Amino acid sequence: MLDIQYIEAFEALFASHKRLYWHFVLSSIVIAGIYLYWHPKERKIQGSKKLWLHPSAVLDYQYFVLSFFIKTWLIFPWLVAINTVILFSYEMLESLFGFVRVTYFSKAEVMLMFTFSLFVVSDFTRYWLHRWLHTGWLWEFHKVHHSAKVLTPLTFYRVHPIENILFGLRYALSVGVVTGVFVYLFAGYVGLIEIMGANAFLYVFTLMGSNLRHSHIKLGYPKRLESLFISPYQHQLHHQVRYTHRNFGGYLAVWDTLFGTVEYSKEAKEAPKSAIGVETTNFTTLSALLIHPFISIYQRKQR
Ligand SMILES: [Zn+2]
Ligand SMILES: [Zn+2]
Repeated sequence: MLDIQYIEAFEALFASHKRLYWHFVLSSIVIAGIYLYWHPKERKIQGSKKLWLHPSAVLDYQYFVLSFFIKTWLIFPWLVAINTVILFSYEMLESLFGFVRVTYFSKAEVMLMFTFSLFVVSDFTRYWLHRWLHTGWLWEFHKVHHSAKVLTPLTFYRVHPIENILFGLRYALSVGVVTGVFVYLFAGYVGLIEIMGANAFLYVFTLMGSNLRHSHIKLGYPKRLESLFISPYQHQLHHQVRYTHRNFGGYLAVWDTLFGTVEYSKEAKEAPKSAIGVETTNFTTLSALLIHPFISIYQRKQR
C-alpha cells in the first residue's frame, strides 16, 4: 500500500517553493542588478518612492499580510485533500487493472520521471485554470490580481480567496493523480528529486527570476526561448490592457505557444496601463479587494 513518506514529500514541496524564500529573493535581486547595469535609463524608476510607495503597492503589502491568514484557513484543507486524491487514484487503478509493478527502470530514472511529470502536469493545469479565470464570472475574481497599478513581487499574492481555493484544488488534483499513477506503477521507487525541499525543476525555474514577473524589470528572452519559458516581461505584458488575455503560463510558455495565446516581448507594443483599465478604481481598499467581485457578479446577474 501507499507509503506515508510520499505524502510528506509533497507537503515539503508545497511549503518550500514559496516565492519569498531567500534564495529566490536574492537571485531576483542579482538578475535585476545585472539587467539595470545594462539598462541605466531604467534605474531611476526601480528605486523610486513612486513605485514602492504607490497606493497600489502599499495595498499589496497590506493584502499580503491579510491573505496569509486567509490562506492558512482556506488552502490548508485542500492540501490535506492531496492524500485523499493519491489514495483514490491508486485504488481506482488497482480495481480497474489489478496489481501492476513496473520494474524496468532504475530508482533514479523513476524519480526523474516523477519529478518532471509533477512539474509539467502542474504547470499545464495552472495554465488552463488561469485561462479559465479570464472568462465569465470567474474573471470578476481574477480582476483582483489584475487591478494592481504598479507591479511589485508582492502583487503575486494579490489574489482573491476564491481563486486561492481553486488553485489549491487544482494543486491537490494534479499532484494527487500524478502521484497515485506513479505509486501504482513503481511503488517504492517513487520519490521526489528535491533542492532545498522543493521539486528540483520548480526550484531552478523559480531561481531564474520568478519574482521579476511582478516588477518593472522588463527582462525578456529571445523569441525561441520565450516560446518555451515565460520571461518576466511576458507576464508583465499579461498585466497590460492590450495583452490581458495572452501569456497565461506559469513557468512554461509551451502551453501558450501550443494553444495560440503566446505574446513575445520583442513583438509587443508598449501599453503601460493595468489590465482592467479604469476599473482599477474599484479595487483600492482591502475590503474592496475581497467584496467587490461579489458585487460585480451580482450586478452581472441583474443585467
Ligand atoms: Zn491573469
Ligand atoms: Zn500576475
